This record gives sequence, C-alpha cells and structure tokens, in this order.
Amino acid sequence: MLAQDSDALLQRCASTELEALKLSRYPALQKLRNKSEEAIQNRIKVNKALRTSADEIVTIPVVVHVIHSEEGNPIGGQGNANISDDQIQSQIDVLNEDYSNTSGYKGFYTDSLGVDTGIRFKLVTVVRTFNEKTQFSPITDADELAAISPAWLTNRYLNIWVCRLSDRYLGTSQFPVVTEINELTTGLSNEAEKAVDALTDGVIIDFRYFGRNSPAITSAVYNLGRTTTHEVGHWLGLIHIWGDRNCGTDHCADTPTAFTKNETTDISCTPVFSDCRGVTTRNMIENYMDYSPDACMSVFTNDQKERMHAVLQLSPRRAKLVEYSKISGDNLLVELYPNPVSDQLTANIYTPNYQIFTVNVFDQRGHRIVSDAVNLNYLDVNKFPSGLYFYKVSSGGQTITKRFVVR
Ligand SMILES: [Zn+2]
Repeated sequence: MLAQDSDALLQRCASTELEALKLSRYPALQKLRNKSEEAIQNRIKVNKALRTSADEIVTIPVVVHVIHSEEGNPIGGQGNANISDDQIQSQIDVLNEDYSNTSGYKGFYTDSLGVDTGIRFKLVTVVRTFNEKTQFSPITDADELAAISPAWLTNRYLNIWVCRLSDRYLGTSQFPVVTEINELTTGLSNEAEKAVDALTDGVIIDFRYFGRNSPAITSAVYNLGRTTTHEVGHWLGLIHIWGDRNCGTDHCADTPTAFTKNETTDISCTPVFSDCRGVTTRNMIENYMDYSPDACMSVFTNDQKERMHAVLQLSPRRAKLVEYSKISGDNLLVELYPNPVSDQLTANIYTPNYQIFTVNVFDQRGHRIVSDAVNLNYLDVNKFPSGLYFYKVSSGGQTITKRFVVR
C-alpha cells in the first residue's frame, strides 16, 4: 500500500547533513568524534561489567519552543505552525511509549529485541514565539531558531524547536559532545564544547510531523510522532542503523548490518533484505533509527539502550542534566561553594518540577546587587567588597536564602 506522492518527496532527517556542515566548519571535531566513539565503547563495557541490578530510570525534562508566523497568534488547526498544547503533549506521550517499549505496534522484532530504554520525558513548558520568517533550514538555521527562542540551559533540559522546515525535511538533531571520563570534571568550557555551540543543543522538528492525532499532521507516512523519537535518538548519540554508508556500522551489534536506509512510503512494512559482505540479512526496518514509515517503527535494541546510557554518562551536558534530574523533586535545594569565596561563586540549584529559577543577591545592608537573574549558576565576586551577602533563589513558589562571605 502506497501513500500519497507528496510523502515520497519528504526527507526524514537532516542530522547527517548538519554534522557534515559542522565538520567542515570545525575539522578538529572529527578527531574528537573518533575519540568519543572509543570512550563510548569503553564505557559500555565497563557498565556491562559493573551492572548488578536493573537500570535506574532517567527522566529528561523537555522545553518545547514553538516558532510560528501566524498574525494574532491563533493556536492549532491545519497548516498552523503554532500547534496546540494537545499536539505537543501527544509527542511527549509518543516519546514515553517508544522509549519504554510500550508501543502498540507488534513488529517482527518486537518480542525478542525491543527493550525499555529506561529513559523517560517530562514536559516542563511550552514557549511560543511569533516570527515573520515562515520557514527555516534544518541544516543552517539552528542558530537563528536559538536566537528567536533561546534554549533553556542545555545542560538541564532537552530543547525542542518546532517550526516549518524548508527543503522537505522532517527534522534534525545535534549530536552530543562526548569526552573521556577524566575530562568530565574539567567542566563545560573545553575547546570542543566551544566549537559545538551549546546554545543550539537540541532537536528541530517540522510541526506537521510532531506528535499525533492533530489536524496539523497531514502525512499518511510520518503521522505518529516517530520523527521526534528518531531525532532524540541522535541527541542521545545513536547513529542510523545502516551507519550512513553502504553496509556501514552503527556500533550496535544487535542491529543487523543494512545496505542502506529504508526510505519508503510503503506503510505495509514489507520486509527488506541486505547483502553485505556475502551475507543476506533482513533489515531491522522496525528500528527507530531507520527511515521507515512511522507505523513500521517499534524497536530500540539493548545495544542502543547501552549506547544511550553511556552517552548520558559521558557527555558533559547530558551528564549534568541527569544529575539535576535525579535530585529535582518537590523541594527547592540550594548549595553554594566555595564559601567564603574570593573569585567565582558556584550555585547548585535543584528546582521543583524542573522549573527555572530566579536569583537576587543582597549585601549586608539590604542593597540589591543582582536582580531577578534567571538560571544564574555562577557569580563573579571579584569586584564585591568583602563582607556578608545573601543569595536568594526563587522557583515554583518556593524561596531559599543562603548566606555567603566574600573575602
Ligand atoms: Zn536521522
């Protein structure tokens, strides 16, 4: 069964093109990618050796940026990039179903190889912004989208920009930066981190393929929200199952080698076979990291799960996100260090329900030195006269004030 011709012209994913552009701008990145792959493989081995019980569930807080050009800001309806809250929530539901292996579709591999990845998603907020530009390139406009609707801290949230994309692409994603374990402690400001702009870290999805069961979704092939499942897979370090070259590797042994992508409008999920190095195998067209129609996708494998968790541990921004996510509960927590301080004060702040926080700083006489700074984690106190100060944090209706001393 073939879907409409218009679906045949669509291009599932621009992440490979985005990565190629990055590599051409920052040739040094290739060496880092090779080192990253080694680090990931080593970490997977260590994790397998150490594991004694089931994985903890990791919850990823999500901020959705909706960028539209609808005068008067109407919400929802066909052709409107200013999509409804229902459509946005449906995408979060799809992510949770797909990453927990509770999708309704029973594919060829579902029983034996589909796993619960142990990764979940929680919608924190939707940021809606009007902009006159009607469409964006998934390859070259990430900076522009991030300028129109700035990312919430990319080491605390998964940022998803939803807009109308040009060139018939459905979506794209920025691959994570991964470092050696011993570099984690050096923080976020290494050269590679600078090269790969932290401000654009996230995924970009065309509004017509985001979520399910909405009048804005008109494709018969890409209609169940799997574009975002796929792009978030890249954001977590997964590679296309054909390895982006004929009979290439995705570094996951339990996804069979595939000659190329399954880019088709055949929504009956007809089996596809590959001949690679003299061996004939059935492609895992059910894998979320193939290009198959949404209805044919249902599988993340165990090796993909192991890879995503290794990346969550090794990528400095992802690791920080997980750390915050685990501690965030119902209560606001604030830690300041060092204290006394003479140079830079660091604030570890955990907020209720992953919300943003504001910071006000007062001196001993009650004069406000910093006003309503959002998500302020570092404070340069070099120019502060020595003495006692108050660091007041507010989030989700709660407030905590901590003292610190500048000497
Ligand atoms: Zn892709």
